[in-house]
Amino acid sequence: MFIGHYGPAFAAKPLARPVPLWLFFVAVQWMDVCWSALVLAGVEKVRIVPGFTQGSALDLYFMPYTHSILGAGALSLVFGLTALFFARERRLLAVTVLAAASFSHWLLDYVVHVPDLPLLDPSVKVGLGLWRWVWISLPLELVTLLAGAIVYARGVPSRTRFGDTALWLFVAAMAAVEVYGAFGPAPESPAAEAHTALVAYGLLALLAGLVDWGRGTLRG
Ligand SMILES: [Zn+2]
Repeated sequence: MFIGHYGPAFAAKPLARPVPLWLFFVAVQWMDVCWSALVLAGVEKVRIVPGFTQGSALDLYFMPYTHSILGAGALSLVFGLTALFFARERRLLAVTVLAAASFSHWLLDYVVHVPDLPLLDPSVKVGLGLWRWVWISLPLELVTLLAGAIVYARGVPSRTRFGDTALWLFVAAMAAVEVYGAFGPAPESPAAEAHTALVAYGLLALLAGLVDWGRGTLRG
């Protein structure tokens, strides 16, 4: 899953408003940020197999650190602590919400991945595999994104005239990127995929920060 991960990022923001939206955007991809780094370091492994599933060309055959349920839990917990830099009160709530947003990555991956997510015993891997049917996985990603964005738009109403326009333009652009990703060419190599992922996650977090700021809602 790619763009659908941002649904929980949007939806979580009203629950812990001192935490900036860009940090939620990093949180929901934190597992993949670590995965990209470990793929580039040659620690976790992926094969590019065009047509592996309809929704993804990635054969993610070895990612026991970032995408096992224990690894996901540990990474989420650690990332959740970064909320302490932003929340002055109700800090436990902020940490919990940010950690939960981060862990939502594993749950959504579980829905679309074929069984490649290790449980406690790393030889036991799970995944419902909806990526096999892009006409199910793609709408699911878009609906998840849209539902989250609606929760955010209502929960953190814009105080500026163009705040909502900017938000929905951003959401539309994200949806377009997802459609391109689903039907565009497969990545050239694992390293290219990891680089693209890191650049995309960084850029989307930056844009989310701008949208959040443009709504004039950062204070309170
Ligand atoms: Zn992932």
